[in-house]
Amino acid sequence: MNIARDPVSLGRALARARRRGESIGFVPTMGSLHEGHAALIRRSLQTCRRTVVSIYVNPLQFESASALRRYPRSPQRDLSMLRRLGVDVAYCPSSGVFPPDPILRVSDRRVSHLYEGRLRPGHFEGVLTIVAKLFLQVRPTHAFFGEKDFQQLWLVRKLAEEFPFGLRLISAPTVRDPSTGLACSSRNRFLSAPGLRQAAWINRAIREGAKMAAVNGRPAVIESAVRRRLRARDIRVQYVSIVDTRNFSRPSRLSARRSYRLLAAALIDGVHLIDNAPVHPARRS
Ligand code: AMP
Repeated sequence: MNIARDPVSLGRALARARRRGESIGFVPTMGSLHEGHAALIRRSLQTCRRTVVSIYVNPLQFESASALRRYPRSPQRDLSMLRRLGVDVAYCPSSGVFPPDPILRVSDRRVSHLYEGRLRPGHFEGVLTIVAKLFLQVRPTHAFFGEKDFQQLWLVRKLAEEFPFGLRLISAPTVRDPSTGLACSSRNRFLSAPGLRQAAWINRAIREGAKMAAVNGRPAVIESAVRRRLRARDIRVQYVSIVDTRNFSRPSRLSARRSYRLLAAALIDGVHLIDNAPVHPARRS
């Protein structure tokens, strides 16, 4: 496996693949790799001739210096996992590669200030700015993102649709702990044993909420049922909302002709956790 720390060595590592016109799959990550990342990487390895995984804890997407400092890092473990999986290139940009306070940034006007963006102002601008730069450096034919970060996936999809990067964006379902259903996350390691048990309720509650859509077409009713369920377990709810996946707006009634997602975020042991589930409303005459 090649380890590149700047765009020049990345270009060198990919030169032959580019000359031959091989497909290049790209999985951007912030490291601290877990099974969720591994699933995206396997998908890229199956789909593309070459696979590049970036590991970069992006300072622009953190709301504070302390949140950035606290983010878990395990570079050696990550690199051995990438080697084991059979990744071609690990791109680990050194600190000088991206300007710390860029003048130009990629932002959107409609969705970035909602939900995660409301809790973490500037977060998505930071994500989109770095993802765009990584796309320009890696020049992948395919890029892989997880449904776990549903709002991020939606925004990156827009980025790939509206800017001509010439890549195909592929999303993969959320990988969960098989026994509890808790979505794998780098942050789960900060949870205490009781916190882990509480966290498992997030997925249970949103799945139950999503099921309610078969009998109840009112998002407000479903959202408050989910909130109640979480609060009953002493979980601090940050948001629970159903969004239309086409434009990320919150519908007042569900329609069987549309596709929706139930999003939730909660704070457990001071750790910010997110999850989401598809919502399939019943057909009504
Ligand atoms: P991160 O390292 O948290 O920035 O995540 C890198 C990529 O992995 C993003 O596309 C995430 O959506 C994806 N990801 C993180 N956790 C999971 C999970 N549990 N299942 C599937 N994809 C995930």
